[in-house]
Amino acid sequence: MPLEIVTIPCLSDNYAFLAHDSGNGQTALIDAPEAAPILAALEDRGWTLSHVLLTHHHWDHVEGLAEILTQHPARVIGAAADAHRLPPLDQQVAEGDSFEVGGEPVEVLDVSGHTVGHVAFYLPQSAVVFTADSLMALGCGRLFEGSPAQMWASLSKLAALPDDTLVCSGHEYTQSNAKFAITVDPENTALKQRIADIDRARAAGEATVPSILALEKATNPFLRATDPAIQAHLGMVNADPAAVFAEIRGRKDKF
Ligand code: ZN
Ligand code: FE
Repeated sequence: MPLEIVTIPCLSDNYAFLAHDSGNGQTALIDAPEAAPILAALEDRGWTLSHVLLTHHHWDHVEGLAEILTQHPARVIGAAADAHRLPPLDQQVAEGDSFEVGGEPVEVLDVSGHTVGHVAFYLPQSAVVFTADSLMALGCGRLFEGSPAQMWASLSKLAALPDDTLVCSGHEYTQSNAKFAITVDPENTALKQRIADIDRARAAGEATVPSILALEKATNPFLRATDPAIQAHLGMVNADPAAVFAEIRGRKDKF
């Protein structure tokens, strides 16, 4: 049985997630932007947290943790590389490590770029990856600390996961990401279709996160630096994909 995934809107545009095993009752929280909506989501379902997985140190991903732990004294897991700037960790992890939630393996991927030390959590049996501010729906996190080459390597790692992987990212930025995406990939029919779907969802007040990796690979310009049409549009045919990614990221920063 795959874990049950619950998406929890927090703050103005953040998402936290619960991953629940109905078999043994364990529940992991992925990121803790704000206590109240997370505590309410747990209470509604009668769930108790067993684990908290932290993707990176930014305040909008950890701010609610202390209050949540007062009611749910769960095991807090985060990157060893960021232990000095994350809340206190019960377990420090790094790329290649794996641990269990609900009897299911969780694999740690280093996805540095937005920050250096940002990790993603991949659950192959449930086909879900928690990417926070690395790979985002139709976008990727701004490069506050890492280099374009580092983020391109991180995104390439995520793109290599199975196509049906559910991508649980950290923010509802999709509609503004779409406005940029179409400027670098204007002929992409899958992108045009996705933008129509996003506009419809947002008009109805629906979340556009999580998304499916296959759709990200078909439409997210930050995963498409090897795409001939995008390279041609940027005047970078056969350029190094990391350089094409850097150009796309640079344009987005000025957009
Ligand atoms: Zn962040
Ligand atoms: Fe964030």
